[in-house]
Amino acid sequence: MFDKLGLGPKTLQAIKEAGYTEPTPIQAGAIPKVLQRQDVLGIAQTGTGKTASFTLPMIDILGQGRAKARMPRSLIIEPTRELAAQVAENFEKYGKYHRLSMALLIGGVSFGDQDKKLMQGVDVLIATPGRLLDQFERGKILMSGVQLLVIDEADRMLDMGFIPDIERIFKMTPFTRQTLFFSATMPSEIQRIVDTFLHNPARIEVARPASTAKTVSQYLVSLRQNDPKQKRAKLRQVMKQESLKNAILFCNRKRDVDIVAKSLVRHGINAEPIHGDLSQSARTETLARFKNGDVQILVASDVAARGLDIPDVSHVLNFDVPLHAEDYVHRIGRTGRAGKTGTSITLATPLDSKSLAAIEDMLAKPIPPYPMAKEAKTTPPPKVAKDGKSKKRTKKHKSAKAEHISDKAKKSQDSQDDSTGFGSHVPDFFR
Ligand code: AMP
Repeated sequence: MFDKLGLGPKTLQAIKEAGYTEPTPIQAGAIPKVLQRQDVLGIAQTGTGKTASFTLPMIDILGQGRAKARMPRSLIIEPTRELAAQVAENFEKYGKYHRLSMALLIGGVSFGDQDKKLMQGVDVLIATPGRLLDQFERGKILMSGVQLLVIDEADRMLDMGFIPDIERIFKMTPFTRQTLFFSATMPSEIQRIVDTFLHNPARIEVARPASTAKTVSQYLVSLRQNDPKQKRAKLRQVMKQESLKNAILFCNRKRDVDIVAKSLVRHGINAEPIHGDLSQSARTETLARFKNGDVQILVASDVAARGLDIPDVSHVLNFDVPLHAEDYVHRIGRTGRAGKTGTSITLATPLDSKSLAAIEDMLAKPIPPYPMAKEAKTTPPPKVAKDGKSKKRTKKHKSAKAEHISDKAKKSQDSQDDSTGFGSHVPDFFR
């Protein structure tokens, strides 16, 4: 029961109105520790209720005391602005009976308005790392009043090359701060950060690192060749066989997100793309249409889909095997949420053998083959003629793959994500 966790009556009332009756395991574990002002290391995937596990106790803690000009009392760092906005919405929902002031430092939100708020003093500052450091360097923010620092989705930050920024932020905030640190997985670089900057944290783990939701049935469709056309045909076949309610379909490259979405539409399937090159307003609109059921298939890149809270997705389809094993966990974490069952189906070609092996290693089990219906016949190419060619191609593709995973490429995609307009998704209180 929520009322056993030590939260105040106003917060409990807001929780009741949100319709939650039982705390999730991460909430039951983290909330009392946060209220006791302990550092917390939360190892939890999205969909476990982790956002409320830090916003709820923070609302109670920040309900007492007053903010000073330019000195935020708490700081929440999120890897993307979509996540930042979701956290802001959480504060709005659960903090409706408190008078907390907030500001948001993310791409696309006019800094003028946020600066006015900072000047008046904010209880909560929600930011992406680059924007925060930028404004700090301009002398717009003082970090010396930060009593509570939240680092969310730390393994995402690592993937996006934000770890040096995170270290700087740690060093800029007072040593006496309370730190709440969340990550779905614990690679060694993240463990190092935790060991360096957290003080004797309470470790709350609700799923084994890199374990995948038990409620998701995972399948693999193995293709003999890396032929995009054949892949798209196979994808349609799977989609037909599955009679999907809705699905998020992941591609590794932004270019393929567009190609695959267009191809599906051409075949009469209700699909729309979402990736970092689209304007924020287009992304927000597509997401809203997917949420209300107007769009059935959301074709997405990893960055665009990161952290999005989309309930009730029946299927996750991987048009490509993700290059990082952790991305696989994040992708399939989009389905099978909150105890519901879900299905994930991954298409793999011989070129994916390394990435696939890494995923299966991490899962500590092979992904079972998808039970393709009989008609699922794809004509294999004549063996002898293609064999030599496909070997050459493997080499070529390997170097292309290396290019794709370079940090630079990742960073540039992410900075694009962070620079376009925020559009209508900005919660009202930030306007
Ligand atoms: P998160 O892991 O923070 O992305 O949360 C996933 C979803 O669970 C969100 O839609 C929350 O609104 C919802 N949620 C959070 N806490 C609870 C709860 N105690 N009971 C039911 N749903 C919840």
